[in-house]
Amino acid sequence: MPAKVHQFPCLSDNFGVLIHDPETGATAAIDAPEAAAVEKALKETGWTLTDILVTHHHADHTQGIPELKAKHKCKVTSPKAEAAKIADTDATYGEGDSVRVGSLEARVIDTPGHTAGHISLVFDKDKIGFFGDTLFSIGCGRVIEGTPAQMWDSLLKIRALPDDITFYCGHEYTQANIKFALTIEPDNPALQKRAAEVDELRAAGKPTLPQTLGTEKAANVFLRADIPSVAAAVGMTGKSAAEVFREIRERKNKF
Ligand SMILES: [Zn+2]
Repeated sequence: MPAKVHQFPCLSDNFGVLIHDPETGATAAIDAPEAAAVEKALKETGWTLTDILVTHHHADHTQGIPELKAKHKCKVTSPKAEAAKIADTDATYGEGDSVRVGSLEARVIDTPGHTAGHISLVFDKDKIGFFGDTLFSIGCGRVIEGTPAQMWDSLLKIRALPDDITFYCGHEYTQANIKFALTIEPDNPALQKRAAEVDELRAAGKPTLPQTLGTEKAANVFLRADIPSVAAAVGMTGKSAAEVFREIRERKNKF
């Protein structure tokens, strides 16, 4: 049976997400930004929390864990390189590992850059990806603990995934990201189309995620640093994609 996913807003601009296996009843929270919001989502869906799958150690992704763990006795799985920073971790995972939510199975890929040990989850059979604070729609996470080159490599790993993956991420930043992206690629039709769609969604108070990866690859300038027209737009023709990415990321930091 296919996975069911429930996304809900929490904190100021975070997303919470539950993934549920109808066959076994297992349910995982992808990160735990806020215990109360996760509890509310569990109540609304009628699902029982069995797992918390953590993408990275930042407080706005982990602070709900102790309360949820105490109440539901759920299993907490954290990135190998960050487990020491994440309370109540029961198990760890990293590149090449797989993790189960009942009968559902996800592949773990290391996507460092935002944090040194950030991981992403790909449920291949269900065509669902959880990219935490690595990839946002029309944006990417700030490079806090890693290097821009490392972040670019992580984004390339995500870009190599199939176009028909539906992905979720940690934050509702899309509208602000689009404002910035249009300064670099004002004539990108895929970006223009996404801009119009996002304006409509936000005006209606709706979330802009999830999104399909194929659409994102065409519209997200941070996945396009190796395209000559993007390098030219930031005055870096002939430079490496990692250097172009660094320039775009730095411009966004100051935007
Ligand atoms: Zn973060």
